[in-house]
Amino acid sequence: MRIFPVVGWAERGGYDATGHGNSVPRFHITWGTGPGVVAPFERRVREGVAKGLVQLRFRHRVTGLARTAGALDTVTGEILEPSGAERGTASSREVTAPFELKAQAVIVTSGGIGGNHDLVRAQWPERLGTPPAKMLSGVPAHVDGLMLGIAEKAGAHHINRDRMWHYTEGIENWNPIWSRHGIRILPGPSSLWLDARGKRLPVPLFPGFDTLGTLEHIMGSGHGYTWFVLNQRIIGKEFALSGSEQNPDLTGKSVRDVIGRARADVPAPVKAFMDHGADFVVEKDLDALVRGMNAVTGDGLIDAAELRREITARDREIANPFTKDLQVTAIHGARAYLGDRLIRTAKPHRILDPAAGPLIAVRLNILTRKSLGGLETDLSSRVLTAEGTPLPGLYAAGEAAGFGGGGVHGYRSLEGTFLGGCIFSGRAAGRAAADAVT
Ligand SMILES: Cc1cc2nc3c(=O)[nH]c(=O)nc-3n(C[C@H](O)[C@H](O)[C@H](O)COP(=O)(O)OP(=O)(O)OC[C@H]3O[C@@H](n4cnc5c(N)ncnc54)[C@H](O)[C@@H]3O)c2cc1C
Repeated sequence: MRIFPVVGWAERGGYDATGHGNSVPRFHITWGTGPGVVAPFERRVREGVAKGLVQLRFRHRVTGLARTAGALDTVTGEILEPSGAERGTASSREVTAPFELKAQAVIVTSGGIGGNHDLVRAQWPERLGTPPAKMLSGVPAHVDGLMLGIAEKAGAHHINRDRMWHYTEGIENWNPIWSRHGIRILPGPSSLWLDARGKRLPVPLFPGFDTLGTLEHIMGSGHGYTWFVLNQRIIGKEFALSGSEQNPDLTGKSVRDVIGRARADVPAPVKAFMDHGADFVVEKDLDALVRGMNAVTGDGLIDAAELRREITARDREIANPFTKDLQVTAIHGARAYLGDRLIRTAKPHRILDPAAGPLIAVRLNILTRKSLGGLETDLSSRVLTAEGTPLPGLYAAGEAAGFGGGGVHGYRSLEGTFLGGCIFSGRAAGRAAADAVT
């Protein structure tokens, strides 16, 4: 696996030096994005297939786990009819036959629950009140969490189920691959973040600073969405969109296209959202922008004079070397890191500067993504029962195991490092399952 050399900076911060948040940039983007991560593993698995060591059973949906003489050694389920559906699109769920497989060990790696909104709502953390009426799916429909219930039925302990990582910057994909498909904006620090009524979110809830803190604030606001207000100069430099399809240059490993993105006024995938996105309003003047914002939601909550006051107050601080606007201070701080200065943080300027226009407003929805709880395991990825004893034969890894252990990332996660937990817990499970035979 190879990595893009500029380190990404997520979850910049809480309230003070001892609080949560990162004081250093922390994660790399893989060269080739998701497919680039999978490729080296796929190569080895296919070598195993060629040697007769591995059998692949596509279109097999597991619906049950069973034990023989105490040890979990049986997997049952349904074989779905063959499908030529494109990658990412829904395939047929037509069942053609049942199946049963036996093995000395079973490793559950079925992922999280984010595609199953009923389960997300049922497990929604009490501290966040009622789940939002509208949520977008940041994961495909197959991330349905049903295997967690199946494993539980077989005796596994499912813990920390209310630990979830939902993003607060979700936009409806204008070109959806799966149902309710939302894309997460990975924002730089300059956009003005406003609640549904057009009031700025409180310090330190700036873009890219504190996902759970922002989610908590939004859930307390009585509205399930917020707004970014910015301009073309900011969107061109600061909007990165999550997902392999949204980053064809990195996914396609094209140095030329990566350089092209850095040089473009607005990268093509972002421009496509400006042109077609249901959550986007792009206008030359503020009054028209407000009319557009109110048309997007249909609730008429944004007042043009109030919004002008918010933006003008912030814009005045750009020229003030002693600024008391902490977001403006944070923008200067971000630009102290060369990677951000080059490709992630626009030079401070007035949002209402016509030369930086047009103005842009983006409605932001809650987007389901990661499950931080899951099947409880020990350090060898052996699944534990509610009594804390290993369930013989059963292992779990990846997001199904809360990225390891049943919640190795805690409540606040280590944003950007989820795959690390998947790979390490998978390795632990594989080694332990192999050792158990010898
Ligand atoms: C758009 C996007 C961007 C992301 N960006 C990052 C990032 O930048 N950094 C990071 O660290 N993480 C990121 N993640 C998260 C990370 O990709 C996932 O947490 C990780 O891929 C989970 O891997 P997994 O193998 O545990 O589960 P999955 O990749 O979800 O795989 C589970 C598999 O199990 C199969 N399955 C489920 N149930 C059954 C069943 N009953 N029978 C048979 N098969 C079943 C599914 O079909 C699927 O193939 C991102 C996720 C998304 C969606």
